[in-house]
Amino acid sequence: MMNMSHYDNFKVDFTPPKDYVCDSGYVIKHKPYKKYLRTDIARIFEEKGIVDPFLKEREIVAQVFPFKINQHVVDIIDWDHYHFDPLFQLTFPQPGMLEKDEISCISHLNDEGASRDQIAEAISKLRSKKNPAPANQSANRPTIFEDDDSYECEGLQHKYKNTCLMFHKNAQTCHAYCTYCFRFNQFVGKDRFLEDDSTRLHTYIKQHPEISDILVTGGDPGTMKADVFRSMLMPLTEPDFAHIKNIRVGTKALTYHPYRFLTEPDADDLLGCFKDVISKGKHISIMAHFSHFNEITPETLAAVKRLRQAGCNIRTQAPIMRYINDNPTTWAKMWEMQVQNGMIPYYMFIARDTGPQRYFEVPLAKALYIYQEARKKLSGLSHTARGPSMSSGPGKVCVMGKERIGNEEVFILKFLQARNNDWCDRVFFAKYDEKATWLDNLVPAFGDKEFFFEEEYKSIINAKKKVEDLCPA
Ligand code: SF4
Repeated sequence: MMNMSHYDNFKVDFTPPKDYVCDSGYVIKHKPYKKYLRTDIARIFEEKGIVDPFLKEREIVAQVFPFKINQHVVDIIDWDHYHFDPLFQLTFPQPGMLEKDEISCISHLNDEGASRDQIAEAISKLRSKKNPAPANQSANRPTIFEDDDSYECEGLQHKYKNTCLMFHKNAQTCHAYCTYCFRFNQFVGKDRFLEDDSTRLHTYIKQHPEISDILVTGGDPGTMKADVFRSMLMPLTEPDFAHIKNIRVGTKALTYHPYRFLTEPDADDLLGCFKDVISKGKHISIMAHFSHFNEITPETLAAVKRLRQAGCNIRTQAPIMRYINDNPTTWAKMWEMQVQNGMIPYYMFIARDTGPQRYFEVPLAKALYIYQEARKKLSGLSHTARGPSMSSGPGKVCVMGKERIGNEEVFILKFLQARNNDWCDRVFFAKYDEKATWLDNLVPAFGDKEFFFEEEYKSIINAKKKVEDLCPA
């Protein structure tokens, strides 16, 4: 006989999405999340009535670097001038992201009817040439000690003394993918920095009272459901976690899918979770990725307001990228709009040395010029952004300025964060180089053979490698 109690207990929890009414009475209609992948690129152009001369190349690039976009982003691209549109460059594959011979190689395999395996192998080789794991990220994985056991924790990174990063398995994707993303290997199932649940995060944090900040990252944790956030964050309000003061959520959902905070069925629950955590004395900062002021739509502003009403702060950051935001006016306008709407400009990053960096890279000298010129246009309230900063293996290195010291033109560099906390705030000098795009391209000034941290950094990395070799996972 059928066990009815089993069915009695079963219920579908479906809360239909509802429109969001702003304080001003303006109604934001729910836009269901609808994603488009590589095989949809041709159709998107067709629907816009565009014959794109680079369609084939775009489809090939999207075989190597994963492509995903959604309706909201499609709707804010200026399709009449799409070649030059910053959001098109931000999300659609560009032919220049691969070398010509790399495109020909994949094109040849596609045209010759190569097997799926052969194509997959060629693509995998190509990806591995693109430095898919920059800045020695694996050296940041911490070890958890439990009873007599110890194990390395793949889904956590603890590089800077006060801050622990957590990669939850439900945050391994984003609402759309940025063309320049350094996490491209994560999205295709390689380099899986991830946690199944929050248990190991909580265990590790309990053991480390020096940690004051948790950064929930991914992918984009904005893709996680409210109940996952709750299970991760609420335990941190218990007395065992009194040392945790700040919770940061790194997300691009404010610009890629602002409906996440407004009209999604669990938007109210998510905001409720944030409010509960804040009411227990923790600070929540949304580390929002904004690449261009064109992303600041009425929906984005409504979501910003709602998060602020819940008690969250919003700090903004983005890398400086050719074709997207490599001019002072764009940054000045973006920072100005952010400050006016209660956000705090936080970082201007330099493109990491990974993936399609060659296409998007902006030399350090130019980035410094853009940063300084943008600041000159604005009042002190917008001067909170630090940069241009490189998230390199040894730490976050900021290009503070360019000066002539004695007979030498130099970059003035400074550690904002460092693998060894003692390096923090230390200033050092590199020969000025107009073409350099990353720390590795720079050489020490004044005839020094090495930067002050290099020897120690090498020994830190070597020690970590030795442990990995002795105890492979
Ligand atoms: S939102 Fe962040 S993680 Fe996601 S694709 Fe863009 S840069 Fe990568």
